[in-house]
Amino acid sequence: MYLQLTPRELTFRDEVRAFLSSSVPRDIREKMLNDGRLSKEDIVRWQRILNVKGWAVPHWPVEWGGTNWTAVERYIFREEMQAFPAPPPLDFAVDMIGPVLIAHGSDEQKRQFLPRIANLDDWWCQGFSEPGAGSDLAALKTAARRDGDEYVLNGQKIWTTMAHYADWMFCLVRTARGEKKQNGISFLLVNMKSEGITVRPIITMEGDHEVNEVFFDDVRVPAANLVGEQDRGWDYAKFLLSNERATIARVGVSKARIRRIKELAASEYCMGRPMIENRRFREKLAAVEVELKALEMTQLRLVAGEEGNGRTGSSDATASLLKIKGAEIQQATTELLVELAGHFAMPFIDNESQELVGDCWNGPFVTPEWAARAAPTYFHWRKMSIYGGSDEIQRNVLARGIFGR
Ligand SMILES: Cc1cc2nc3c(=O)[nH]c(=O)nc-3n(C[C@H](O)[C@H](O)[C@H](O)COP(=O)(O)OP(=O)(O)OC[C@H]3O[C@@H](n4cnc5c(N)ncnc54)[C@H](O)[C@@H]3O)c2cc1C
Repeated sequence: MYLQLTPRELTFRDEVRAFLSSSVPRDIREKMLNDGRLSKEDIVRWQRILNVKGWAVPHWPVEWGGTNWTAVERYIFREEMQAFPAPPPLDFAVDMIGPVLIAHGSDEQKRQFLPRIANLDDWWCQGFSEPGAGSDLAALKTAARRDGDEYVLNGQKIWTTMAHYADWMFCLVRTARGEKKQNGISFLLVNMKSEGITVRPIITMEGDHEVNEVFFDDVRVPAANLVGEQDRGWDYAKFLLSNERATIARVGVSKARIRRIKELAASEYCMGRPMIENRRFREKLAAVEVELKALEMTQLRLVAGEEGNGRTGSSDATASLLKIKGAEIQQATTELLVELAGHFAMPFIDNESQELVGDCWNGPFVTPEWAARAAPTYFHWRKMSIYGGSDEIQRNVLARGIFGR
């Protein structure tokens, strides 16, 4: 098997690069290079540029806006976007609920939601986790009682990313109590503007507002918003979660950050010499690069395998492997940035979050923006080993794949 791109694939890569150079708004790219926070408007703006080009949802069927690209072409596109860097698609919409609706949604749901997902007209959030039901997701308690043509929801979700932006939530709810707790769960689409929904911010340790608690108090949801069959939501959730983990390695993101670290290390000095000449720093950087190359090769082997046998998506075990290694490498790159920034890597709180945490010092930047963001970025990305299934859970999945049950 050759892990080299064919001439056709190289031409395709050049086409993607040319498009990114001419189309990614400069201010958005600049923010990403400095590990700045993208606004909702930034992400929507970029998604609409992609949609006009016809590249918003390349992995979907052509009838819903897909491209018919090969697995390798899809891989190239994703990696090039990450490495440029350009904003990732809103994964809750494009990679999670979109494919679930395509596979299991009603015709009406497809017509109503899919074009709006491609254009990011609706912002989606994921309502799976609850207090006491994270790793053990099937223990969830939020209840949906059928009442005529509606379900009535009561309960609580937690860690809901960007729920404060969301128009819609895809949500797991308990509709019955079976002998097995995986039975009796249903998959509902909930309009976030419905009466009885309260969204409360959770401020994370870097001072950011990204995650929330969501409370349901007699929220009425039309029965037409049920995806697939009642009580079979666990099957659809499993399908969704393996898609979530498969896109999480983010090799291109780490490549972009390493490129940036090298640029900065050439101009940041320690004891009179650029950091790039510091032996210990170089060794650490090289070790991360070697790991990243190995992860890239693993991912390419999987993509080549997909291409060869017509399978799409990776198995549970390989998705877990990519997630663990991808997270470790991304966390290592943020650590290198903190080392580069030295004592300038002081955490700060932006104005929006400050309103939520109350009165505390928030002076102007006295360092380059990248350095002021180094520590918050480092703390922010600790989340990678928790969300989408914690590292311990991924290791359990891997062990089961290797040793059997
Ligand atoms: C930043 C962030 C964003 C998130 N966004 C969303 C979102 O948008 N929507 C959503 O639904 N959820 C979201 N989550 C929730 C996330 O999926 C859960 O946090 C995760 O599944 C872990 O669940 P938990 O927090 O309840 O921890 P727990 O399940 O309570 O685990 C606590 C610790 O015990 C370990 N553990 C638990 N069970 C086992 C076991 N069987 N074997 C070995 N170790 C075990 C875990 O690995 C962990 O270290 C988000 C989480 C974070 C941190």
